[in-house]
Amino acid sequence: MNILVINAGSSSLKYQLINIETEKVIAKGLCERVGSPDSFHKHGLDEGEVVISTPLPDHQAAIEVVLKSLVEGPHAPLESIEEIDAVGHRIVQGGAYFDKSVLIDEDVKAKILELAELAPLHNRAAVQGIEACQAAIPGRMQVAVFDTSFFATLPQKAYMYPLPYELYEKYGVRKYGAHGTSHRYIAQRTAELLGEPLSELKMITCHLGNGCSVSAIDHGMAADTSMGMTPLDGLMMGTRSGSIDPAIVPFIMEHEGLSPSEVNDLLNKKSGLLGISGVSNDLRTIGEEVERGNERALLAYEMYANSVKKYIGQYMAIMAGVDVIVLTGGIGENSADMRRMIFAGMQPMGIVVDNTKNLQRGFERIISHRRSKVRICVVPTNEELMIARDTYDIVHAHSQIVPYKG
Ligand code: AMP
Repeated sequence: MNILVINAGSSSLKYQLINIETEKVIAKGLCERVGSPDSFHKHGLDEGEVVISTPLPDHQAAIEVVLKSLVEGPHAPLESIEEIDAVGHRIVQGGAYFDKSVLIDEDVKAKILELAELAPLHNRAAVQGIEACQAAIPGRMQVAVFDTSFFATLPQKAYMYPLPYELYEKYGVRKYGAHGTSHRYIAQRTAELLGEPLSELKMITCHLGNGCSVSAIDHGMAADTSMGMTPLDGLMMGTRSGSIDPAIVPFIMEHEGLSPSEVNDLLNKKSGLLGISGVSNDLRTIGEEVERGNERALLAYEMYANSVKKYIGQYMAIMAGVDVIVLTGGIGENSADMRRMIFAGMQPMGIVVDNTKNLQRGFERIISHRRSKVRICVVPTNEELMIARDTYDIVHAHSQIVPYKG
């Protein structure tokens, strides 16, 4: 069974075609700068890739180009579009409506659009993608997999903000979280890796990429997470500030004469590693600058490590300890230096990195020292596979397909 996984971003669209029985990726690619004159489409697998400049005025056009590339051209894996059996869509915001992945129908589409206020660019783009698939491959089941639904188990004391209660009732002002599919995947994989049931572990999962979040997963259930009503909250990120004193927002608006959308832009696009270092949002570039003696780059590095450390401490406190800490994302998987800094000095809390294992690269592994009470694991995330598995399960539940052993 071939499942097309679509991840529509605000101006991008990533996709993978996955054979669910083998869990192999048969084709993948991305459309970039959707809506801009310099849009392009990259398609293929690692061994061969084509990049085509092509007009992509919107996500509907992007889907059409993607579907064509699956049946035509040098890296087309399919003879016909009919060989796509189902489509799974990543949806950023599921609000309080969706506590799990669902089969898409008109009501689900309407709710995704209704929630667009919380993720305007993403949710609208996703619906365009869904509608384009409905038009191009009618009759195929489509499934929505929400970034937020993993956090449906958060207790109210974790998801409420200490604001007037009416704001929650009137506008749904509360924490929804984000990166849920990634946290869910790495939690499950880590339990498999350790050969222990997820339901018996206290886990802290750290998704450290350009966007960053940390979750407390208590015996398999999300107990807290660092992203909030929007993905701006929590950790310091590539260009996002993460949590700051909220009084800073009106202060900057007043002193810099900024509008709400301008201050939003400042917090989302000009802050974080970029804002502090002044050179880049990319940790590799910042690392090179640190080597050259750039003090602001060093400050950005240190602040980042500190911000992750603080969340680990918080989540150990709310779960009364932790059995395993998992890292993923571009930084979590690849930066041995950052991992060393995050865990430096945590020996009294039972957390010790093995320096040799920390320097190894590129696979799922345990990097804690054998004397460490808490295990530390690096597990590359795979949100697309998780979306494909959910899609399979839901399609299977609604039809007669023989289950595979995933
Ligand atoms: P992601 O959003 O998961 O692709 O992660 C992007 C972040 O990962 C950027 O800050 C990159 O600098 C960082 N990253 C990727 N590879 C490395 C590496 N080898 N060393 C340090 N940081 C890396």
